[in-house]
Amino acid sequence: MEKELDVVKKTDLKSLSTAELKEFTDELGLMGYRADQLYQWLYQKGASSFDEMTNLSKDLRAKLNDIAEVRKISIHSKQESKDGTIKFLFTLDGPEEYKVEAVMIPDFYPDGAANRLTVCVSSQVGCMFGCSFCATGKMGFFRNLTHGEIVDQVQIINELTEEKFGKKINNVVYMGMGEPLHNYKAVIESAKILSDPLGIDLSPRRITVSTVGLTKQIKQLSDEDTGVNLAISLHAADDEKRNKIMPINESLNLEQLEEAVKYYFSKTQKPLTYEYLLFDDFNDSRQDALNLVKIARWVPSKINIIMYNDVAGVKLKRVGETRLNQFMKILTDKDVTATVRRSRGDDIDAGCGQLAIREGQKKGKSLVKE
Ligand code: SF4
Repeated sequence: MEKELDVVKKTDLKSLSTAELKEFTDELGLMGYRADQLYQWLYQKGASSFDEMTNLSKDLRAKLNDIAEVRKISIHSKQESKDGTIKFLFTLDGPEEYKVEAVMIPDFYPDGAANRLTVCVSSQVGCMFGCSFCATGKMGFFRNLTHGEIVDQVQIINELTEEKFGKKINNVVYMGMGEPLHNYKAVIESAKILSDPLGIDLSPRRITVSTVGLTKQIKQLSDEDTGVNLAISLHAADDEKRNKIMPINESLNLEQLEEAVKYYFSKTQKPLTYEYLLFDDFNDSRQDALNLVKIARWVPSKINIIMYNDVAGVKLKRVGETRLNQFMKILTDKDVTATVRRSRGDDIDAGCGQLAIREGQKKGKSLVKE
């Protein structure tokens, strides 16, 4: 009986790391170029079955059908904003039906042609870190995405942008659902495939991984030569305020973050980005700006001031233009590199995670106890 079950269990090829996939193809006796062809079908061409892999022999396809499977996420729905932003809700392919979001944010030249196309991907179903301003945090954590499920989001959106704009996406940011460094292995593996010429073929300089400040993983990333950029979701510049909106800060505070960030820079020599959601009458005072200036000087960095997309049920609100301008002036007067990121897609569902929340769904694991 046990033997029969063994035979039935198929290997999900997109859950294998590149090294494991190589072992798998070696065991099948595939020559190097055949293994490359299989890899390209999985990640670059986004095949969802072996039958599509027409440059592999019929015998090989039959053999693969017997022992392995290709899982692929699919578009459940999409919403397009007046400003061109498209928000996707994907259904994951697996025993349990989970959904995650990704957003494609286009920039246009004055003549209307597409310039920069950025995709914001999810790395987890839900998130356990419970930041008070975040719709995904309210869901709790359900499961990690595989690296294949992360690459699928980009591959599928690439097909759409090629059709719509005649070009592929040129930036990927890991700022969708989930805390990317809490799913470290899959995120790093996916970033390698995104930057592989046989995969999605993006420069690692065009890939940014964000974190709420998981210091151990920041150091791990510092020691690996991935070439991707790091962004810290800061959102408050002193421990008292950060504790109020980001529970992780109670166990990993700004002093520990400073140490990790300095380690990162000493190893990579790469500047990093701080993401700072500016909330009305919470973190927008002169003192907040001065605290932020101090943080900006830990290592070479830039600050992205982000205009918040209000989320239903969240008391924190988007700051007004006057306060924003006053805040920005303090930063620029102190020679801090700071830019404002206007919210996009205001006329479609706002905060990340809102589409994926299911009515009546039980909450997953969370740092925040009800
Ligand atoms: S902001 Fe990021 S880390 Fe915080 S709850 Fe949302 S997804 Fe999780």
